[in-house]
Amino acid sequence: MKKIRIYQSINTKIVFVIVMLLIFALQLIGANFITQLERESVETYQNDRHTQIDFLESTIQPLLLTDQNGTDEEIDIETEVSSLLAEFSGNGITEIQLVGSDSFVLGTSDSTQQTLVGQLSNDTDIRQALVVGERVTRQYVDPGTNTRRWKIVAPVIADGEDQAILGAIMMESNIEAVYNQVSDITWIFLNSSLLAIVLSLILANMVSRALTTPIKEMQKQTEAIAGGDYSGQLTVYGEDELGHLALSINDLSNRVSEAQESIESERRRLDSVLTHMTDGVIATDRRGKVVIVNDMAQTMLEIQAEDALGQNILTLLRVEEEVTLRNILENQEDLMITVKSEESPTILRVSFSLIQRESGFISGMVCVLHDVTEQEKIERERKEFVSNVSHELRTPLTSMRSYLEALADGAWKDPEIAPHFLEVTQSETDRMIRMIQDLLHLSRIDSGRSHLELEIVNLTELIHHVFSRFEMLLNSSEYKEKNYQLKLELLDEPVWVEIDADRIIQVFDNILNNAIKYSPDGGTISGKMRIIQKRVIISISDQGMGIPKADLQKIFSRFYRVDGARSRAMGGSGLGLAISKEVIEQHSGRIWAESTEGKGTTFYVSLPFVPVEEEEWE
Ligand code: ADP
Repeated sequence: MKKIRIYQSINTKIVFVIVMLLIFALQLIGANFITQLERESVETYQNDRHTQIDFLESTIQPLLLTDQNGTDEEIDIETEVSSLLAEFSGNGITEIQLVGSDSFVLGTSDSTQQTLVGQLSNDTDIRQALVVGERVTRQYVDPGTNTRRWKIVAPVIADGEDQAILGAIMMESNIEAVYNQVSDITWIFLNSSLLAIVLSLILANMVSRALTTPIKEMQKQTEAIAGGDYSGQLTVYGEDELGHLALSINDLSNRVSEAQESIESERRRLDSVLTHMTDGVIATDRRGKVVIVNDMAQTMLEIQAEDALGQNILTLLRVEEEVTLRNILENQEDLMITVKSEESPTILRVSFSLIQRESGFISGMVCVLHDVTEQEKIERERKEFVSNVSHELRTPLTSMRSYLEALADGAWKDPEIAPHFLEVTQSETDRMIRMIQDLLHLSRIDSGRSHLELEIVNLTELIHHVFSRFEMLLNSSEYKEKNYQLKLELLDEPVWVEIDADRIIQVFDNILNNAIKYSPDGGTISGKMRIIQKRVIISISDQGMGIPKADLQKIFSRFYRVDGARSRAMGGSGLGLAISKEVIEQHSGRIWAESTEGKGTTFYVSLPFVPVEEEEWE
């Protein structure tokens, strides 16, 4: 959080503004009030002095009139004047002087100035008053006491028409008291102002704190929200604007928290969808740099997320030489890529789609990887199968046609050749019929229409039966001179299994037929039966030509033959083992072969077997 300096804080600003306002107001009021007070006080003081002098004037006027009329009662006048002046002096009046119309001092209240009495006054104000006949006033600073004095000189004018000036009264008073009073009041005002400022400082601080505390809390809360912490709730101090703001922030915090939660759960859901998708998903930015790669895509491309992120999508898919990003953006056509892994190559179909904003701006691309190895394999096998079937049918048909042509060309007349030719066409037809029957059987298994007729069969007996039939065949004239030996090692006890006996007999017939077919020089054909855990395993070995290692797995595929020509010559369709495998798998069993080339082959058939407790039968 950025620290706010003291002078930048609202608190300081509010306090400063309030205090400054108060100071200005006090200044303004104070200046006006003091000036007004001073003026009023001085005016009142002066008016009082004027009233006093008016009164004095009216008292003195008869005395001066008598004096002017030339009576001999001079001593009396002087005494009268001095007692009158003495009466008026005091109460801030420093001196009262009476001057006659001839400017001679008639009396003074100042006892120290009594020598002036009878002297010519040299006071210019008195002279001015005597000449002009009007009052003269003046304020000055007495240099002796350094106090302000107020001086008023009033001419004493005779009543009547001539308005003769009888003399003048000069009154000097100490006005300093008035100023002192005003300055006392100013002091009181200043002190109260100072107190008011201090109080306002405290009050303003309190008010601004009341404002800034919730603001600071709000600031902290909004910072916490910005930092992803939505747990806090603001205290609402009142119903005012700040209270409403606090409520709004609390509401905002809740909503942001809810929105965040829903985004988070959405993200988790998306993550889980992406993680558990069976398709690979890669998302890129607008420049084709990988930003998301799900688990499946990592497995499919055999990469780690850390290596993939930030890489170019084309490099990641190893197609940078075949396509450009522009091609993909323009056409969005699917790509087929092959990933060569250690086990087997995987074929992936890569589909692209653009992430476009409403404005049309392309912000990225999503690419979905779909494993089509199995599909491709099935497709390839289907094609192979069709080609194989066509080939397998064409061969006997071609040979039949040539024999039939030869017959039509006249060979039918030849009693030596004709029967042989007809025999060949018949055997080719038989082979085709066998093959078509095999194909139909496989097709029924493929489409699930081939149901097993399950029954509980004693496998020991069944194998014994198959071998007995074979023994008879080997003893027939066809095989007699080949000198095949049959050996059978069966278990003593009956082995009860739930199987479709006809189908299983078909499987063993096929294995035994092959054993004879591919052991042209005779040899021993031995059968063995064992029980290992919950399985019964029957093995049939021959001492024939054997099967190369590379072909061991493939012999169970449809139409696969190690030596096509020989097998075909033997009347084989290449479907026998494929059907056997399907039948055994229908029984939840397994069939496999082990072989040494030139030495012989062993076929194994394993079937599920649950030993039956003797008691159950008892
Ligand atoms: P076919 O009708 O050609 O015999 P099968 O499906 O029965 O077809 O056998 C597939 C191929 O497996 C044969 O063509 C043969 O090459 C090989 N094969 C099967 N059994 C044996 C065996 N006992 N010894 C050697 N090769 C065998």
